[in-house]
Amino acid sequence: MQYSDSILNTPSSFIRNILKVTDSADVISFAGGLPNPISFPIDALKASVNHAIDESGAKLFQYSTTQGYLPLRQYIAEKYNKKQPGLNYTADDVLITTGSQQALELISKVLLNKGDGVVIEEPGYLGAIQAFTLREPQFYGVTLENEGINVAELKTALKQPNVKMVYTVPNFQNPTGLTYTKERREAVYEAIKDEDVIFIEDDPYGELRFTGEHLPYIAAGKMTNSVVLGSFSKTVTPGMRLGYILTKNHELLNHIETAKQASDLHTNIFAQYILHDYLTNNAYEEHVEKIIALYKEQANAMLAAMEKYFPAHVSYTKPEGGMFIWVTMNNGANALEKFHEAMEQKVAFVPGNPFYTSKSDVNTMRLNYTNATPEMIEEGIKRLGQIL
Ligand code: PMP
Repeated sequence: MQYSDSILNTPSSFIRNILKVTDSADVISFAGGLPNPISFPIDALKASVNHAIDESGAKLFQYSTTQGYLPLRQYIAEKYNKKQPGLNYTADDVLITTGSQQALELISKVLLNKGDGVVIEEPGYLGAIQAFTLREPQFYGVTLENEGINVAELKTALKQPNVKMVYTVPNFQNPTGLTYTKERREAVYEAIKDEDVIFIEDDPYGELRFTGEHLPYIAAGKMTNSVVLGSFSKTVTPGMRLGYILTKNHELLNHIETAKQASDLHTNIFAQYILHDYLTNNAYEEHVEKIIALYKEQANAMLAAMEKYFPAHVSYTKPEGGMFIWVTMNNGANALEKFHEAMEQKVAFVPGNPFYTSKSDVNTMRLNYTNATPEMIEEGIKRLGQIL
């Protein structure tokens, strides 16, 4: 069988392949990207299963609308309007997706022809690179600096006539943990505001801020071609696969709805009812506070251990939230080689390689801190320090 060029050119998830070797019980793994199970409110969700079935019965088990369960869409719109006055979203601006990952795939399906341009952070989110690659686009990688993407490079990329979209993760980015500063957000907005491009702010981690204050979105509330992606994966449960698209561009949203019909008709309606019941009958914000407190403790444990054990030629990001720290070896060491050495010492991370669209010899790595105790973090970083 001759498979399609697009699937043959799309890498299977590098991380999933790595996790096969890092998963064994005696390895201290910073390789995964999973939320800590503390973020699953299991008892409350159990109650919501019964409650939602008692209240709405067969509706949970029937086919439903492609755009998603209206009360959940209303809840999401209001949540964003409360978080950032001026966004003025309504339920009509929301489409529920099967995780925000599906949003990435649907957007690329409705926007990209083969060879169209996609501007993406370098390094960038692997799942987005994978979803976009299926459309065989041309990537324009823009360096992600401590303050956000490099604006001069962004402007150069935007001069390319084939650019259709710009993809960013402005809060606690995956893989770097970096957050765009307020000034950089404004400069990025100035660079894109008159361009005919869709500007995506993918924000699954935004609520998990453990230092500093919420910063306004770059383009949301300001331009029609703004798209914000959100998810309940990191604050309630990834297993229910509930994410969403927020946009005032209803032409785009209508096309996405058509693409979604072809893909899965609608997002799991059983899950949507249960999530909505959970959100409206529990202290969701207190629940998120608990996750934040845990991640803050774990991030601080990792940063303190890095300070103690890492040699001077190694630098690393200091996240204000989210799940990741990004490490750079400034002595020219190779991340893949270090990965193999680290595995011999039973400690794992993800080498930076798959997060770049244009580089293969890299000196960076992603470390996740949300799934280890402070003691394990200290021990793992100590071992890594010796290898580095
Ligand atoms: N975007 C980013 C930046 C992510 O890190 C993730 C999860 N790893 C996703 C999207 C997808 O999340 P989900 O499909 O679970 O909502």
